[in-house]
Amino acid sequence: MSITDDAIAFEHEHCAHNYHPLPVVISEAEGAWVTDIEGRRYLDMLSAYSAINFGHGHPDLVAAAEKQLHRVTLTSRAFHNDQLGKFCADLARLSRHDAVLPMNSGAEGVETALKVARKWGYQKKGVQHDRAQIIVCEGNFHGRTTTIVSFSDDPVARDDYGPYTPGFVAVPYGDVDALAAAITDDTVAFLVEPIQGEAGVVLPPTGYLEAVRELCTERNVLMIADEIQAGMGRAGATFACDLVGVQPDIRILGKALGGGILPVSAVTADWDVLGVIKPGEHGSTFGGNPMAAAVGIAVVALLETGEMQERSKRLGEHVLATLRGANLPGVKEVRGSGLWWAVELDGTGRTGREVSLELLARGILAKDTHTWTIRFAPPLVVSEADLDAALATIIAVLEESVVPRSADSAP
Ligand SMILES: *Cc1c(COP(=O)(O)O)cnc(C)c1O
Repeated sequence: MSITDDAIAFEHEHCAHNYHPLPVVISEAEGAWVTDIEGRRYLDMLSAYSAINFGHGHPDLVAAAEKQLHRVTLTSRAFHNDQLGKFCADLARLSRHDAVLPMNSGAEGVETALKVARKWGYQKKGVQHDRAQIIVCEGNFHGRTTTIVSFSDDPVARDDYGPYTPGFVAVPYGDVDALAAAITDDTVAFLVEPIQGEAGVVLPPTGYLEAVRELCTERNVLMIADEIQAGMGRAGATFACDLVGVQPDIRILGKALGGGILPVSAVTADWDVLGVIKPGEHGSTFGGNPMAAAVGIAVVALLETGEMQERSKRLGEHVLATLRGANLPGVKEVRGSGLWWAVELDGTGRTGREVSLELLARGILAKDTHTWTIRFAPPLVVSEADLDAALATIIAVLEESVVPRSADSAP
């Protein structure tokens, strides 16, 4: 048994088995690189599902966290703290909304948006009590709470967690006519990922988000964009909706908003929407804590220079051109936006997990999703040389024999 095997067995014995991690035990990281407990280095091409957009240990973010760590970390919202006002002001400006409601995990951000939308429906739109409907998309991923899995169509995420929360209907992603047909007088909101992340970096058809925006305005339905994974520079713009010039009524942010240091999520909206929440009606012990706010302020400052978004867009175009130009065998599609892409295998050879294990053996961390897709999201600070070397490795691995092997059987 290697010390890696020991560490994995130890974790397996005491930690619930709600994940199936790749067999690597990380102990340190810097920038786009991580080091395992045996001293091997890997290029991180997952970035904790886009929570590490600015790289591990970004000096500005670590400095902000360190400084705040020695001042005050938690006050609760029973009192004011001297970081929260600036965080909300800065994030509202970045999101081009009036105000911010801070939470912690992404799922809490989604729950917050759903609650705001329902309350807005009753108080502003005049929907009859307890009749509010929210439309969602097939193939969505919005988190793991009981309400959120109620409107998931992924049996793995949903089965045996009922009874499910009512009030949601699903329409096919990318189909604006289906959305139009599903809207009733009781519809308060449409919740959509501008690019579906967990589904495998699925981009909507051209013109979709613009048409959704128009339809929502016309029918007095709130457009809620879940930008938890797609936002914060990942898709090649500050927010993925920016790629097509769309401003949602409610934006949900998370993951990279906490700089990979601590969980920070937020809902942003204008006062005519967010103003429906009054004191005591929603909250969180940790939401808006000064530690999170201090890191969040530094994250917004990084995005306000535009440098991360520019790198994401430019390097992402290079990646797509390189991988598509390689005409890879056994690959059905390469798609992406910014430094965020998926390789979908054609289902005749190795699975996404088998390819991910092979990449791991060659020093690249990436993760499969839905059996046949491998998702890549390197930190936006990755150097061009590191990225090119990784692309060469990815191409070499994909060009290898497409003969199926059983998962996890490699020595
Ligand atoms: C990750 C994710 C969430 C949930 O965030 P957690 O912090 O894991 O609760 C919600 N929506 C999208 C689009 C995500 O990618």
